[in-house]
Amino acid sequence: MKRFVPAVAAAALLALSAPAFAADDTAVTDAEAGAMVDEIDAAAGSPDEAAAAEDDGNGPYRQAYDKASKALAEAYPDLPPDEVERITLYILGNTVNTLFHEYGHGLVSELELPIVGKEEDAVDNLANIIMVAKTSDPALDSMLRAVADDYFANGAFSEENGDSTAAWDEHSPDKARAYDVICTLVGADPDSYKEAADNAGMPPERQEACAGEYESRLNAWDKLLTPYYLKEGESNKKVTVTYAKPGPDEAVVGDMIKRSGIMQVVTDEITQMVKLPHDISASVETCGEENAYWSPDERKLTLCYEIVQSYYNNATMQTPEP
Ligand SMILES: [Zn+2]
Repeated sequence: MKRFVPAVAAAALLALSAPAFAADDTAVTDAEAGAMVDEIDAAAGSPDEAAAAEDDGNGPYRQAYDKASKALAEAYPDLPPDEVERITLYILGNTVNTLFHEYGHGLVSELELPIVGKEEDAVDNLANIIMVAKTSDPALDSMLRAVADDYFANGAFSEENGDSTAAWDEHSPDKARAYDVICTLVGADPDSYKEAADNAGMPPERQEACAGEYESRLNAWDKLLTPYYLKEGESNKKVTVTYAKPGPDEAVVGDMIKRSGIMQVVTDEITQMVKLPHDISASVETCGEENAYWSPDERKLTLCYEIVQSYYNNATMQTPEP
């Protein structure tokens, strides 16, 4: 039975203190620009033997990373290796978080889960909790920090352009979503992420509250999903994953996404965790907008190439001058 809760209790909390990438955590830190990225990464702790024993460094996210970074390096042979790594982690991390968010909407509608409060916040929390729980795959640890970065980047960009998230929007403002990611990290593992939260300007009393909030959100999702956890040996409904041909503007990120198999990795997490009541499908397509969504009537998750391209654009916008 594959739930995210035992993973949190056992492996993930230990793994959170592992460095971003097995032997070399400075490569990520040095390469990453933007104060927030550096500050958050500086808090990645020292190697943890228990975590290292838990993960052989070749989990599904690491494998997806290897394939995606290869695709990026082939497309841009002059890109320095540390930039390839940084950009790939950024793109995959945000893609993974978005996919879990949309599958969250899918679970809410398919299982008719009761949600108190904004559904957007609830599924953000699910995505962050799952990603924290799975950080025994070290690649995912770096990816989750990139998610906070992207919300900060979008928040800063919106402020500069005077078009911050409207108060009536169904989503919380980008900066609040960034702090939600940090709150999940520091809530799950205060020792490893205190410095990151300090550097991001989160007051100590808020950090302490995050631990309680993390527990509460984790327990809430666990309680909601418990009746639906896939049992040992039980088969699930069918999920069809397809990749449409990307447009010329998104050819490189399209190649990265397809070759990485990240859509399948995230889909497998969901289908190994929860028994679905119906067949569903997931597709990467050109949509004409930067978006990703769950379509309840079609029972379909759509990830738009354009939103993946926006992650690439945000990642490269932060590239430091050589
Ligand atoms: Zn949503």
